Amino acid sequence: MPRYDYRCRACGATFEISRPMREAADPAACPQGHDDTVKLLSTVAVTGRGGSAPAPSAGGGCCGGGGCC
Ligand SMILES: [Zn+2]
Repeated sequence: MPRYDYRCRACGATFEISRPMREAADPAACPQGHDDTVKLLSTVAVTGRGGSAPAPSAGGGCCGGGGCC
């Protein structure tokens, strides 16, 4: 399930929610309960290079497609 990043305009917090793609545009309340949030462009879902390379979402950053290994 894709993850989406949101930012709360009330408190400035950023948070992620995993939800079905068809619900991506739905409102998402921040962890503090504010409803005034905006969806950020995901850096996880689309790599743009290679097409089939998995996007590492956690880890040390090495071997994450930078060609360091
Ligand atoms: Zn908030």
